Amino acid sequence: MASPKVFRVALDTPLRRLFDYLPPASPPQGPVTPGMRVRVPFGRQRLIGLVVASGATSEIPRERLKPILEVLDPTPLLDSAALELLEWAAQYYHHPIGEVVAAALPKALRLGAAARESEERWELTSSGERACAEGEPRRAPRQRALLEALQQAGGWASAEALTGRLGSWREAARALTARGLIHRTERALARASAPASVHAEGPVLLPEQSAAVEAVAASLGRFGAFVLHGITGSGKTEVYLRLIEQVMARGGRSLVLVPEIGLTPQLIGRFRARFAAPIAVLHSALTDQERLAAWRDAAGGVARIVLGTRSVVFAPVPDLGLIVIDEEHDASFKQHEGGFRYSARDLAVVRARQAAVPVVLGSATPALETLQNVAAGRYTHLRLQRRTAQAQPPRLALLDLRASAVRSGIATPAVLAIGRHLEEGGQVLVFLNRRGYAPTLLCTACGWIAPCGDCDARLTVHLAARRLRCHHCGADAPLPERCPQCGFAVKPVGQGTERVAETLAELFPTVSIARLDRDVVRRRADLEAVLERMSSGETRILVGTQMVTKGHDFPNVTLVVVLNADQGLFSTDFRAPERLAQTIVQVAGRAGRGARPGEVLIQTEFPGHPLLLSLLAEGYDGFARTALEERAQAAWPPFTRLAALRDSATTAQAALTLLTEARKLASHPPRRVRLLGPVPAAMAKRAGRHHAQLLIESPERTRLHAFLDQWLPQVEQLPSARRARWVLDVDPIELF
Ligand SMILES: [Zn+2]
Ligand SMILES: [Zn+2]
Repeated sequence: MASPKVFRVALDTPLRRLFDYLPPASPPQGPVTPGMRVRVPFGRQRLIGLVVASGATSEIPRERLKPILEVLDPTPLLDSAALELLEWAAQYYHHPIGEVVAAALPKALRLGAAARESEERWELTSSGERACAEGEPRRAPRQRALLEALQQAGGWASAEALTGRLGSWREAARALTARGLIHRTERALARASAPASVHAEGPVLLPEQSAAVEAVAASLGRFGAFVLHGITGSGKTEVYLRLIEQVMARGGRSLVLVPEIGLTPQLIGRFRARFAAPIAVLHSALTDQERLAAWRDAAGGVARIVLGTRSVVFAPVPDLGLIVIDEEHDASFKQHEGGFRYSARDLAVVRARQAAVPVVLGSATPALETLQNVAAGRYTHLRLQRRTAQAQPPRLALLDLRASAVRSGIATPAVLAIGRHLEEGGQVLVFLNRRGYAPTLLCTACGWIAPCGDCDARLTVHLAARRLRCHHCGADAPLPERCPQCGFAVKPVGQGTERVAETLAELFPTVSIARLDRDVVRRRADLEAVLERMSSGETRILVGTQMVTKGHDFPNVTLVVVLNADQGLFSTDFRAPERLAQTIVQVAGRAGRGARPGEVLIQTEFPGHPLLLSLLAEGYDGFARTALEERAQAAWPPFTRLAALRDSATTAQAALTLLTEARKLASHPPRRVRLLGPVPAAMAKRAGRHHAQLLIESPERTRLHAFLDQWLPQVEQLPSARRARWVLDVDPIELF
């Protein structure tokens, strides 16, 4: 086979293409193949890129092509399956392949770190040996000491050993290298893969769990998508663990995706307690070096389980046998910031299909898209409807806020219920999706409300910190005592978790109350401390935001109070009701996981709302059925496919410029493709920038993508596109 004449390289630039290069002038040890990193000239810079393909010819005249400067990897960093996934993602999300590759690799690798753990070694060359024998170089004692040290060590030594022996020697090494007397090498350290086995036996499975394990296990070795739809406490994790065990017994490895906030010490602890096998954990809180080390463990096959948040979907896993997505409905699987906006859940399913392995999507509240995939026969539905412990499902009840006295957002019947449960020895969870003390600071004399100068939003009062903060842009100012407009005293209006905890402390002065939100939990250790005080029973009432809904196990919680269900009922975002139902079901699932039955009180001013009624009467299933019917009628996803072209600018008008021109380019869109907008976003001004969006919609995925394929390059060519900060969001999950 003739060696390739041209290499196509993905570079981290916003250009939607690969770049062609000639083979390196001084050939490396082995052949250059796709998946290897190379250093190449790019304009005046030198960039590190990834070879994605090779070929015999280029569209660019040969004399204009430049050779690769350096090949960084002796073997491919990514195998063909990993490259295939990246190319698929670049195509589906219509995003430049170079930026997709960059998102998939740890920063240290993008900067050129070795893909394998290696040792830096220094060796004498033959002229170095002669020089040493002749006592050269006479006038440079440090250089001579280094030559002698290498000779005495048998011709080579590791950098570490040299430092131990000589202290500083790098300058001498540079001089000797320049004279050709020594040279530097990297030697890959082989890390033996530890034997994988099971530490501890799992509990006896319930029949439903066994059936789920068997169904997925029957698909090992080929693709299959399974929705593990299990109520809270039904033992989904145990099903994952059994399947991972089977994969391990066959010599394979498993990839587990968890939501950002779900990466709790409890979950990792369960994996470690069960398996005597190395686990690589990848998440956003790692340092660059930790991330590199975990990636190497995954890529080198040392780890038998690779577990992490969103971007772990790109981690290389040799002999992949199974993919698990825990809490698949969680919004954190969708990257909704920056340029490359992918869904890790959806990519995981694509990866499973490409790798011919089963994928398990676990949730107590599957996303409506996922349930529609079940209805369409694409995914297999596995139900877990019983709790593993001797626990009854919690009783849900609505509490009409209009019919009771309310103190700081807590209605009297809720206060009485809290007192009763505390007296009976239970713990109480109070959920409010709003942190801070109060969402509004108001002057009762002139009506002034503290606004954020950079957003269409109010500033939130943080009383203990004596600050006013914007929860959208992070603006932070001292809390004023008086109205800046009229000088009258100001007062906080409404409730956040800080105020609710204060009120509960006044109502139950002898009881220990804790908070769980982003203001009190800044590091992982803070979360562990709060969870520990909760599971030891020291904390009796826990007040928290969304954070409390995520998979923590509180067996002694007998009462959950949802303080305000109404935010999700009347939103402009068609997904808001789905999120509300998921939150209520998830938070309710925290109640009564032990032996005592749980009670859930949902405070609302709209006790007759059909969504709340269907949720109460038929649970999440009933809600999902009603909501899917509504989506079908309104032609929203999953019954239509969406992409959003978004832009932002310093003025409202400028934010619409590119979008208006882009829309004009498509004045006659193809059949069954519709463009909606452009319109300013619902919260148009954020962090000093005005946001706007143009929606592109089609009931057929292929039509939508065919349209985007021909339209986007034209949009890119618009003069305004170069000035704008635009981004395309395929399958957006937030419409704002
Ligand atoms: Zn005033
Ligand atoms: Zn702001």
